[in-house]
Amino acid sequence: MNDQFDVLIVGAGHGGAQAAIALRQRGFAGTIGMIGEEPEIPYERPPLSKDYLSGEKTFERILIRPPGFWDERHVAMLTGTRVVSVDPDKRSVATEEGATIGYGHLIWAAGGHPRRLSCSGHDLAGVHGVRTRADVDKMVRELDEVTTVAVIGGGYIGLESAAVLTKMGKQVTVLETQDRVLARVAGEALSRFYEAEHRARGVDVRLSVTVDCLDERDGAVSGVRLADGAVVEAQMVIVGIGIIPAVAPLIAAGASGGNGVAIDGHGRTSLPNIFAIGDCALHANAHADGLPIRLESLQNANDLAITVARAITGDPEPYTSLPWFWSNQFDLRLQTVGLSTGHDQAVTRGDPTRRSFSIVYLRQGSVIALDCVNATRDYVQGKALILQRCAPDLDKLADPAIDLKDLLAAMASD
Ligand SMILES: Cc1cc2nc3c(=O)[nH]c(=O)nc-3n(C[C@H](O)[C@H](O)[C@H](O)COP(=O)(O)OP(=O)(O)OC[C@H]3O[C@@H](n4cnc5c(N)ncnc54)[C@H](O)[C@@H]3O)c2cc1C
Repeated sequence: MNDQFDVLIVGAGHGGAQAAIALRQRGFAGTIGMIGEEPEIPYERPPLSKDYLSGEKTFERILIRPPGFWDERHVAMLTGTRVVSVDPDKRSVATEEGATIGYGHLIWAAGGHPRRLSCSGHDLAGVHGVRTRADVDKMVRELDEVTTVAVIGGGYIGLESAAVLTKMGKQVTVLETQDRVLARVAGEALSRFYEAEHRARGVDVRLSVTVDCLDERDGAVSGVRLADGAVVEAQMVIVGIGIIPAVAPLIAAGASGGNGVAIDGHGRTSLPNIFAIGDCALHANAHADGLPIRLESLQNANDLAITVARAITGDPEPYTSLPWFWSNQFDLRLQTVGLSTGHDQAVTRGDPTRRSFSIVYLRQGSVIALDCVNATRDYVQGKALILQRCAPDLDKLADPAIDLKDLLAAMASD
């Protein structure tokens, strides 16, 4: 690899890959280097807790681009290499192996590492995070010998993993400290729906529980001991309790931030010529009242990458994209658009017992987000309601026989 690039990207994941793609698509002719600590070229992370874990998709099928793509686009790829420090004055980064690589612009797209348990037993054999291909391959290698699994954390990754493993015939317990699953990301009705769906399929969902420690037998995990003294038998433990943004080298170099690195509307950090994108970027989101947040989603990684590519190629446009997300669990496809945080009303469209419905979140009468379960039509049409700050008639909104697009049309003609 060269020791100097016009654009150097740290992190060969979703954001990093999209940044390189967008730069070339926009005609950027300078040199691009990408450094990633994983051994693989960029691959899709969402299947790791879905059809890659289940074995329905091979690794080749989840590559973001075929292997030859990066060479063809003249993107120099240095995998299996971790950047440990950044020198903003010299405009260079240092790798763990001691190499120094210079940059014109640096794009920091390092995502995050799974938050680990701090209790005793957290590092036993059989305890897994779900962030990388290596994590999942390791888990899959052990699964044949496993019948009981405890999933710590009832967020999307925990629930998706629980669904896949239950379908494989494992006996799965989900342990959640909050009094509902998905508490951080969804309204109460959606949480209760998913809780019921998991229980109906045999998942033992335990809420408001605290993990005390992990028990060991023969050098491997054998169970999860809870604060109330109960022990959940588990030959495998999956820890899905969020990520710690991988920003230490940037913060040490003087970048503003803390829980992520702070960026402006164009992805610029407080350090000259250094941008940050994706899961690690703390940004004022237009759909969260301009409050600084980190979003962990493909939409955010890809759209911020495009924002930065625009800034670097001299065609800046601030980041205002509408957030969207999806989650597959059993035969339920959840599609989310907008951010429901801060809603003061939630209206259910359709009948959750039929397993096709939407929850529409409103604030001060206007639609701010939708969670759509097996209801793609609502998801597609709902985007416009959010973008146009539609304040619909609530009875009509609750009536699934009335298309959401017709609510907009009705408002326009009022
Ligand atoms: C199991 C799972 C399921 C998911 N499902 C969904 C979903 O259904 N829908 C959705 O929208 N999102 C989903 N996500 C989230 C989505 O994958 C992330 O938001 C997205 O990958 C973020 O992209 P990124 O570029 O910020 O980080 P990443 O894709 O994580 O890439 C960052 C890369 O940087 C590397 N790196 C870190 N530090 C360094 C360093 N110092 N030097 C070099 N390299 C470094 C990391 O190893 C990693 O390869 C899921 C994530 C996981 C883990």
